[in-house]
Amino acid sequence: MKKWINDIDSQLLEIRNQYGHTYYQGFKTGKLNTDILKDLADQQNALFSTPSIVEKTEQILAKTGNISSITSETQRKASLLLKLLKQEEVEKSLPLVMAKSKILQAENAFVPSIDDKQQGYSKRREILSQCKDRKKRYDAYFSLQPLLQSIERESHDLIQLANEASAKIGYSNYFDFCLSQDDINSNQLENDIENALIATEESYKNLLEFSRQEIGTNRIEMFDFQLVNAKLLKEADRQFTRKSKISDLKKTLNSLAINLDELPVSIEVIDSPNAGTCFVLGSNDIRLTLGSEAGYFGHYVAFHEFGHALHYSLQPQSALLRDNGICMETMADFFANMLTDSEWLSEYTSMTEKEINNYLEMKKLVDSYRVRTMIRDTTFEFEIFKCPGESFEKIWSNLNKKIMGVSSDKAIWSPFSVYRPAYTKNYVYSHFLSKQLAEISKNKFGIQGKKRKAMLSLFERITTPGNMTQFKERIKSIGIDLDQLKVNISL
Ligand SMILES: [Zn+2]
Repeated sequence: MKKWINDIDSQLLEIRNQYGHTYYQGFKTGKLNTDILKDLADQQNALFSTPSIVEKTEQILAKTGNISSITSETQRKASLLLKLLKQEEVEKSLPLVMAKSKILQAENAFVPSIDDKQQGYSKRREILSQCKDRKKRYDAYFSLQPLLQSIERESHDLIQLANEASAKIGYSNYFDFCLSQDDINSNQLENDIENALIATEESYKNLLEFSRQEIGTNRIEMFDFQLVNAKLLKEADRQFTRKSKISDLKKTLNSLAINLDELPVSIEVIDSPNAGTCFVLGSNDIRLTLGSEAGYFGHYVAFHEFGHALHYSLQPQSALLRDNGICMETMADFFANMLTDSEWLSEYTSMTEKEINNYLEMKKLVDSYRVRTMIRDTTFEFEIFKCPGESFEKIWSNLNKKIMGVSSDKAIWSPFSVYRPAYTKNYVYSHFLSKQLAEISKNKFGIQGKKRKAMLSLFERITTPGNMTQFKERIKSIGIDLDQLKVNISL
């Protein structure tokens, strides 16, 4: 039985790596190969249709009698395989696979045009964060509209198809189904979102007030925020910009006795909608793509994506035991949190103690904006799958008003919300959980000066076992209760 499940696991890992390869190529070239995706979906489907796969998996589990008492690796893999078989029931539908890849294909191929010139995503972000000309920022912000209009019909089709497939296995909609894959239910999510809104309220009010003064209007628009945020982080940004994010990453890793060149990780600079991504093409081939951003954000993305790469490289060689999104994002942010550690800042920048403290205070305002945009997007996902057919524009604008306090007659929703719903919530959780982890590593596991090493050992302690035990249980064992997120939740 052990060999049987390990065989399935390694075949699945190979398919996952092929997916990684295909998405990476599509991302890099702007041409996603949907024939290969279709072929991989067929391969996975064939693997999951292995004769009596469910019976055999249940047999392994029957030996324990009680799923929660599973301790052996084979049994844990069996319980995760059952979960995947259920997931496959929803995801295998070919029209759904094709609808997703069509949207992704359009997104990969799209290049934002500003002033009638194709400018790209990095340029768009640069204009939004640096250009004083409001009209130009307006144009940059809405330059994604042609893409959104071109995929709107397919997006509604996808929602329909995904909801139908989810209903067949008893879920009210696809969003709820995706949420269940992370062992979270919609009641818990709604509660946690409510608490995250409360935790960000004061800082966000201050940000809005500062924005009104800075822009010189009572009517702040979505295309004003990045400029205001850049203004708030100006001094730190100036310091970060003078430095190479890759050199700082290497130097930081050296201080942890890690040599980046010896890891199976390569880094490329690519213009993309994401500013940074991490693709796993195999256990010995992890690709990080970074945008050309400088400043704090450029460093943050590089450190966050490296956190993913480190996580993958520490995981067991198993598709079944690989961690899910909430764990991945929390650990990546935990690694990137080094950039807000005052010791790191005084070592790597020339900021004085006073400047560092001021920077960390200002950053709370910027973070309140970031967390709230993610809450808005998560709620948007929740609603478009709950109310299929409803206008995206209407839902997005209502939520934008409610959560961001900003009126907008046109919506700039993210295609990611449609083809990967219930993922953005991971960033809301990771923001708060990674801070709690940093506190723990500082207070319990570290002594002054050795903080970074303590961070790394906590990182390894959580990631090395992979999904042998639920992430929730792993963090509980070091004192963080995900079910009580509202306790100790702060920016
Ligand atoms: Zn990430």
